[in-house]
Amino acid sequence: MEPSSSHTVPGVTVKISDCYQCGKCTAGCPVAAHMDTPPTKIIRLLQLGESETALKARSIWQCVSCQTCSTRCPKSVDCAGVMDELRQTSFEKGYASPEQQAVVVFQRAFLDNVRRNGRLNEVELIAQFKAQVFFGSRSLTFLFRDAGLAPELQKRRKFHLFGEKARDRAVVGRIFERSMGGAQ
Ligand code: SF4
Ligand code: SF4
Repeated sequence: MEPSSSHTVPGVTVKISDCYQCGKCTAGCPVAAHMDTPPTKIIRLLQLGESETALKARSIWQCVSCQTCSTRCPKSVDCAGVMDELRQTSFEKGYASPEQQAVVVFQRAFLDNVRRNGRLNEVELIAQFKAQVFFGSRSLTFLFRDAGLAPELQKRRKFHLFGEKARDRAVVGRIFERSMGGAQ
């Protein structure tokens, strides 16, 4: 991300310079209390050209993309989009720790799962995510540490070994094509 007064995220231009540091984004953020650099400060860093500091902030990985900050902003600054873009750039620049890289692996596995099935198949998602992380880390502990959750999944009727697929998966496929230009 360039340390300029504005930048683009898919479908929207964010004017960083419009932010007047009112703090409403941080006040509404559900995870701000746990962040080293809450959204108001992230935007300020970008205004000051300190994009490298923003890219290395832990908070961009703690953001849960709930959109509350963007919704609350009186200046229409899309903080959530900024956090998302910073995450992507941080990942591409190799700043992400192994745990943070796993976040990206999970997000991609999640979207891939929904695109293929037309809905989420939890068991398939967990298997794909675990396999991909294991391929990089070779950690057997990581591979099996959530196995004990299977009975709870079963209790909640989320344990579908053979998976369920939406009847009209083409509709979901078209949504992906339109929102991602078929990139995923
Ligand atoms: S709510 Fe908007 S204007 Fe206020 S600090 Fe956050 S980004 Fe800046
Ligand atoms: S999108 Fe991220 S930064 Fe914004 S309010 Fe939600 S968790 Fe906080």
